[in-house]
Amino acid sequence: MTAKILLVEDELAIQELLEFNIRQAGFQVMRAEDAETAWQQIRTQLPDMILLDWMLPNTSGIVLAKQLRADARTKDIPIIMLTARGDERDKVMGLEAGADDYITKPFSPRELMARIRAVLRRHIPQMPDETIKVAGLMLSPTAHRVVAGDVSIELGPTEFRLLHFFMTHPERVYSRTQLLDQVWGTQVFVEERTVDVHIRRLRAALEPAEFDGMIQTVRGSGYRFSTQ
Ligand code: CA
Repeated sequence: MTAKILLVEDELAIQELLEFNIRQAGFQVMRAEDAETAWQQIRTQLPDMILLDWMLPNTSGIVLAKQLRADARTKDIPIIMLTARGDERDKVMGLEAGADDYITKPFSPRELMARIRAVLRRHIPQMPDETIKVAGLMLSPTAHRVVAGDVSIELGPTEFRLLHFFMTHPERVYSRTQLLDQVWGTQVFVEERTVDVHIRRLRAALEPAEFDGMIQTVRGSGYRFSTQ
């Protein structure tokens, strides 16, 4: 999977230079020239990282970074702030607003790519190896096995990931969009109805062991994994 980077930069020349370098390095690029366009882009597809210019028209990069951190859907997307302002106070302010790293213009493409790779490496979600047990339900990522009570459960890869996500995030409601982002990943573009299909399959697989009640529908909101 190729990581997708959203560039938020109002100066066209810099935007093009950045895009060129990022594409050369093998990443995909989404572009926005202000906060409003950035949100439009994010609504369509979640980027894996945001390269955010400090000085933007209307809403500044700092304000946008804070908004991104305050939104459940975007709070975990890594942000690198770009700025012409090099002093320490600004740097602290950028990091406090939620940026993961900070680059001062002018920067070399090599330095930029090194920073991007370092930040992405820290953020790539990995399925941990530990076996998870919740109220009689056991899931082992390494063995790709699920046991409900004494019954071995056969799951497809998507249902397996979905159950893994639910078991590691119990008692919380997730919208279809959030489940798509978390389980399918931000690279894949599928309809929200797809979530319902896989939820149905997951329940059907858990039903013989009578564990299907753990996958609960929360009307108007989404789904929840619960032992209650
Ligand atoms: Ca600017």
